[in-house]
Amino acid sequence: MEPIPEDSIVRINVGGIRFQCYRKALNTFPDSKLASIEKLATECYRNDSNEFFFDRNPLLFAFILDGYRKGLLHLPKDHCGITYKEELEFWNLSARWVAPCCWETLYKCDSDVETMKQLLISFKRTNEKMLVKEGSDDLKTRLWQFLEIPNSSKHAMVIMLVSVIDTLSGKTGLNACASSVVAD
Ligand SMILES: [Zn+2]
Repeated sequence: MEPIPEDSIVRINVGGIRFQCYRKALNTFPDSKLASIEKLATECYRNDSNEFFFDRNPLLFAFILDGYRKGLLHLPKDHCGITYKEELEFWNLSARWVAPCCWETLYKCDSDVETMKQLLISFKRTNEKMLVKEGSDDLKTRLWQFLEIPNSSKHAMVIMLVSVIDTLSGKTGLNACASSVVAD
């Protein structure tokens, strides 16, 4: 595709929602994907509707496009930071373009994940001190192992994680973060 004139309007469809902006606005973040939108034409330009199409989250893209207009990215406060990171990565936007007022939003899940890991470590240490004779056939002992010692079985680990999540359920976006901890 030929370079689009700076003062032309570019039509960008994200997840079914159409956005428009001046081509020159896309130069705000020079290393980002949209700054070289013409290079994406083969992959993303739809001749039938004369627009670029990206199958991404339109709600977050509204904030991203606004960042191109303002020169800094601001993020809605009600999403998990991991989601933002994935979007920034897709659009090839560096986190340095996120405004300082939104750093907490971007990184809050990091601290939640860290808190979860610390809780898991201290939980394991506490229980490992309570030695249980391995291979015991005693039903009561095995039941206790199942419920109380995280390493005794994967089921016990799941129960423990659920109880940790319950304990911290007041934290925003924690459930989304919990899946990342489990995945680790
Ligand atoms: Zn902000």
